[in-house]
Amino acid sequence: MLQARRSERGPLTTQSIGPFSSVPRGEREMTWSPEKSAELYGINNWGNGYFRINSAGNVAVTPMGATGPTVDLHELTQDLLDRGIRVPIMIRFPEIIKSRVELLNGCFQKAFADHGYKGQYRGVYPIKVNQQRHLVQELVKYGKDYSMGLEAGSKPELLVVLALMNTPDALIICNGFKDWEYIETAILSQKLGRNTIIVVDRKEELKMIVDVAKKFNARPKIGFRAKLNTQGAGKWVDSSGARSKFGLTSTEIVEGVEFLKNEGMLDCLELLHYHIGSQVPQIQSIKSSLKEGARFYTELYKMGAGLKYIDVGGGLGVDYDGSGHSDSSVNYSEQEYANDIVSVLQTLCDEKGIPHPNIVTESGRFLVAHHSVLVFNVMGVNDLHRHEPPRPATKTDHSIMQDMQYIFEKVNKDNINECFNDLEQAKQETLQLFTYGVLSLEQRAWCESMYFAIATKMIKLARATPDCEDIVAALGKELCDTYFSNFSVFQSVPDSWAVGQLFPVIPIHRLGEEPKREATLADLTCDSDGVIEKFIDTASGEPKETIRLHQFTEGQQYYLGVFLTGAYQEILGDLHNLFGDTDAVHISLNGVGYTIDHYVPGDTVTEVLSYVQYGRSEMVDSVRQATEESIQKGSITKQEAKLLIKHYEEGLSGYTYLEEAE
Ligand SMILES: *Cc1c(COP(=O)(O)O)cnc(C)c1O
Repeated sequence: MLQARRSERGPLTTQSIGPFSSVPRGEREMTWSPEKSAELYGINNWGNGYFRINSAGNVAVTPMGATGPTVDLHELTQDLLDRGIRVPIMIRFPEIIKSRVELLNGCFQKAFADHGYKGQYRGVYPIKVNQQRHLVQELVKYGKDYSMGLEAGSKPELLVVLALMNTPDALIICNGFKDWEYIETAILSQKLGRNTIIVVDRKEELKMIVDVAKKFNARPKIGFRAKLNTQGAGKWVDSSGARSKFGLTSTEIVEGVEFLKNEGMLDCLELLHYHIGSQVPQIQSIKSSLKEGARFYTELYKMGAGLKYIDVGGGLGVDYDGSGHSDSSVNYSEQEYANDIVSVLQTLCDEKGIPHPNIVTESGRFLVAHHSVLVFNVMGVNDLHRHEPPRPATKTDHSIMQDMQYIFEKVNKDNINECFNDLEQAKQETLQLFTYGVLSLEQRAWCESMYFAIATKMIKLARATPDCEDIVAALGKELCDTYFSNFSVFQSVPDSWAVGQLFPVIPIHRLGEEPKREATLADLTCDSDGVIEKFIDTASGEPKETIRLHQFTEGQQYYLGVFLTGAYQEILGDLHNLFGDTDAVHISLNGVGYTIDHYVPGDTVTEVLSYVQYGRSEMVDSVRQATEESIQKGSITKQEAKLLIKHYEEGLSGYTYLEEAE
């Protein structure tokens, strides 16, 4: 081993030097700027004009787009904290939803004008994506001018839709598995003047719809969901194909047409629907599925159905990583999406001499993902770097310790590869020797300290040496900091855990300062999955294992934001370790400042406990009885008992997340 260590590294190659290598540290500090942070975190790519970094080095939000009014997210967070609103906090910007609604409708209007298309656009928002009442109300309000409707995927969702929307001409689309009650409710809502279309997702539903319609002497509006053969792509690809959960096969569709014809209701078949999955990364999948879907439309039309609408489902993607070419991104713009849908439909329908259908989209993610940001504070950092070695090993120490001492002293640019291999071997051996009872706990601790001292020295050298990227990467992973953060992955970004979805994470302040730490995030839960260890890399589109963050200093608040969390996360979030809903606020900008439209307090401990059948009064009573017994025994004073009960009651009324000491 020692022999190998002394052997020299081959002559240095003259290859290009990596970005971290040649510039002296001091100089890099001088040249850091908010622009560099913007580049590092890719915010101008995924921010979509809603998020950027201002000259103060803070994240700024411009909900109506880059030229609209702006608010400094860090100042806003401070203001909210001053009002007693707590971190972690979900900050929602309803004006972003307004901007998304206008954008999507504008794209279809432009595509219609450019192509001379004769149909209309009737977007619907599938409320499963985020059912929060304030949000759905805002969507309905902003969508009024566009006759935007809502989609329900279940009976409870239909009940929400009926209560929240009566926009004239807007569609109510009923998807999902249906029972008799769901169908009765949907058909009766037509009698209230609602434009409710019941989409047949399973063939059994068709007979029920017809029976209910006869019972009420109604002409139902029916849709068929077709199972397409064309596959989507990306994470939610299973929504299409012959084995997908929902929809009718071609055989079932033909039988359904026969059935409706016999019932004298074929004119009631007004809509053809399909859905190939969420977050479709490539425009090619959207086009090829549409070509197949549109054929169903033209064929059904020729068979005599009263078709008026083609409903192309959801799937319009969001650019989470800003790369334009990964599963977390999209390789098309919303205008291309609209153009392609319009032109494919126009060509096919013109060919067959069929009127242009009205186009329905069920975009959810696209409309709401951008509007909410989760802001949380860092509570502490586990920093493994060790700039000073432990006491030197001597001749009387175990040979593994002497070996490590040797590596520490001798490592240089020329022998770095050998030293790296020796270091990894020493680490293995240390653990074995400890397990076999050879090394004491003190000796193991020394080896551990020395390992990190060597790694700290070595990574610096490796960064300044050509062709050492693999060493930098390996040691970088070993040495990276853990930033302990005041939030729950399971409650606030469950898809990050469940399906490995990437969300942009970025500090919301200090962005004029160079972030020098490589880190991962750990949440409050006791679950080793409660971490974020995959981060966006805008340049490559490949996820990174760490994120660059600023030095954390005890006593100084450091705030991070997880962005684009408006779609799916809130409702999929769960109560792992009893961390409940976070505080949420709705913020509107008014040109001079901002207003807090709504403050939705997060769950109290009592509320979360009630979901698992704990009653506050019984809990307090039980602890009070215990204190009484202890007062009798003399093991607690009355004052101490009083304080304990006070803490207990305050705890039950408090936030489930960590709060600042008074
Ligand atoms: C979930 C879902 C949507 C929404 O998809 P997004 O990708 O969020 O736009 C639309 N339609 C159906 C049938 C769905 O199940």
